[in-house]
Amino acid sequence: MAFLNIENLTVNYGNIKALKGIDIEVEKNEIVTLIGSNGAGKTTTMNTIAGLKRSSGGRIMFDGEDITQMGTPQIVKKGLTLSPEGRQVFPKLSVFENIELGAYTRSKKERDEMLEVVYDLFPKLKERRSQSAGTLSGGEQQMLAVGRALMCKPKLLMLDEPSLGLAPLIVKEIFDLIVRINKLGTTILLVEQNARMALAISQRGYVLETGKIILKADADYLLNSEEVKNAYLGGV
Ligand code: ATP
Repeated sequence: MAFLNIENLTVNYGNIKALKGIDIEVEKNEIVTLIGSNGAGKTTTMNTIAGLKRSSGGRIMFDGEDITQMGTPQIVKKGLTLSPEGRQVFPKLSVFENIELGAYTRSKKERDEMLEVVYDLFPKLKERRSQSAGTLSGGEQQMLAVGRALMCKPKLLMLDEPSLGLAPLIVKEIFDLIVRINKLGTTILLVEQNARMALAISQRGYVLETGKIILKADADYLLNSEEVKNAYLGGV
């Protein structure tokens, strides 16, 4: 069975059927991208895997265990973390305090070890560790959100729109960092509006449309498919 194995997952918001029975598999050490139009259900998928939203049917298996009914703290402890859409850093707390919050499930030794990894990946966060997070630029806040998610030493890191609202150069930096994090041994599930760049660093991708997976394929195939290009990659 795949490292993350989602079977026939359904999620409702009242009468709205946001996910209508989706299957997703992510193998260990892969980068997999989920693409789809606004409202397709991408964030719902990530939030449900992370235990922030209850499913109404189906099964989520992670690292050989059924996590469908688990709460977020338990899921984080198992090594699955989400860096949510919209950064959501604590603006009044310092950069260091924000980072430390991500490690609440870990021992002091593990915290120190991961802090070194995070500061190494994001030297700017180290430089600004005493500054309040609200005074960081958008790109720096995004890096902080990713750094915080890394602190619990995830085996699988989910990133929801990590490049949202960022300038192209910073976007490039974020994507390079995602590749580095992956090379350190973290499996990645990515949701991105910037589908072309996301697929360029991914092995495989899924296309989600109104709560259903309509296509799954190697990233190269998706990048070259006329249908995908026209619908999701700006037609070029
Ligand atoms: P976007 O790219 O715009 O962020 P998305 O693919 O992440 O979109 P979701 O945010 O998962 O899509 O939304 C899927 C569907 O569920 C949409 O129709 C949305 O309106 C609906 N939805 C999401 N959150 C809620 C909520 N809290 N209450 C009711 N409906 C919701």
